[in-house]
Amino acid sequence: MASVDAVPNGTNGGANGSGNSSAEWTPSSWRSKPIKQFPEYPDLKALKKATGELDHLPPIVHPYEINKLKENLKEVAQGKAFLLQGGDCAELFSYCRQDAIESKLKLLLQMSLVLIRGTNRKVVRIGRMAGQYAKPRSSPFETVNGQQVPSFRGDILNGFELEDRALDPQRLVKAYNYSAATLNYIRAAISSGIADLHRPLNWELGHVKDSELKAKYSETVKFLQESLRFMRTIGADKSSQLGTVDVFTSHEGLLLEYEESLTRLLENPVYAAEGQTSRREYYDTSAHFIWIGDRTRQIDHAHVEFFRGIANPIGIKVGPTTPVSDLLELLRTLNPDREVGKITLITRYGAAKVRELLPAHIRAVEGSEYRGCVIWQCDPMHGNTRSTGSGIKTRRFDDIFTELQETLKVHKEEGSYLGGMHLELTGDAVTECMGGSQGLDEEDLSTNYTSFCDPRLNEKQALEMAFLVADHYIQ
Ligand code: PEP
Ligand code: MN
Repeated sequence: MASVDAVPNGTNGGANGSGNSSAEWTPSSWRSKPIKQFPEYPDLKALKKATGELDHLPPIVHPYEINKLKENLKEVAQGKAFLLQGGDCAELFSYCRQDAIESKLKLLLQMSLVLIRGTNRKVVRIGRMAGQYAKPRSSPFETVNGQQVPSFRGDILNGFELEDRALDPQRLVKAYNYSAATLNYIRAAISSGIADLHRPLNWELGHVKDSELKAKYSETVKFLQESLRFMRTIGADKSSQLGTVDVFTSHEGLLLEYEESLTRLLENPVYAAEGQTSRREYYDTSAHFIWIGDRTRQIDHAHVEFFRGIANPIGIKVGPTTPVSDLLELLRTLNPDREVGKITLITRYGAAKVRELLPAHIRAVEGSEYRGCVIWQCDPMHGNTRSTGSGIKTRRFDDIFTELQETLKVHKEEGSYLGGMHLELTGDAVTECMGGSQGLDEEDLSTNYTSFCDPRLNEKQALEMAFLVADHYIQ
């Protein structure tokens, strides 16, 4: 999986057989390319049955919504809005529950209020939700209790329990159903007022030790509460504009069997509404936004081939292993028309490397024909993962914030705009990342460590991070 590039064997047929990226694109043209992280399903008949079922199920998201997100992201690229993206590292099917969905939605809303105040801009919210079920792994096998077993690759591929580690194609259909159920509840909760600004929100951060930070935070919370009270008094909170918000969905577009089945040639509603000649485009209807992970962004490989044909806005993870020269080639392949806001570059170097590596990436893009075209988003999580002495995977709050701070500074120096942040977080009181105002340390990690993949910021740490970033924009 890590070193060998498989060539997919075309269960749906239709591979174009060409190694040339300018060759005709189809939802299945990725099948003719080498691919990383490819699952070798042993039973191809069962795989075909599952993708055949998916082929006939309705889109999970609508092109109208995808276009709406694109309009919002254009504003982010232009420096007029801020993009907040967050959610679990690996979403499990069992997270499809009212309380888990609500707590994440509320947290994203709360963080966005803090960011609106701080950045003085509109905030676009995208959850890593309703489909974040496939995980890239560094090795196809791992050792558990002295036994070699297939690695857990996310609920869409196999199960975490040792007896469920075999690849099961029916999980593709389950993933569709859990995505649809999660998004259904997100939509229902939002349209029923979960995001109403007059709902009481819990702004407690826990015990904030730093008195200056505490004072600033209290001031922001007071400001937000007074604003909300004022809007309630004048009735502005009842206007449809303020009573509801948009939350879009996203996941890593890793499992192309799944993405291909949900990619449909559909009418672009913008052209239809403007009475122009109708225009049909390929929309990946599994989510509003999908991204290419750090391990699958090779230019001549399958993932880039798939992503270059879809109309959705897309992300590309960019890190220490991204050669400067690859960046422009990726942009030219994935966004030849230079649509503003189409591509979000999600940078993740680690606190110790960002200052050294980010400037060259910014200069390559902003010094080219793509100037002003991309969204720069900071993922301060994936370059800052470490293991404790006893082998627990964790991240330090300070490293996460340092990478954000450094990223903000570098963009300021380079004259570019840091348009967003991408966080792994949960609305629950987990103890997976160390630090923050609660001062979680190594001993606290075992209290409530529930992640099956990377460590997430808990609700208080995530809110505090939003506050610290907002404060940075004010200065
Ligand atoms: C992730 O976002 O969970 C992830 C695996 O990130 P990356 O591809 O940047 O390592
Ligand atoms: Mn992760």
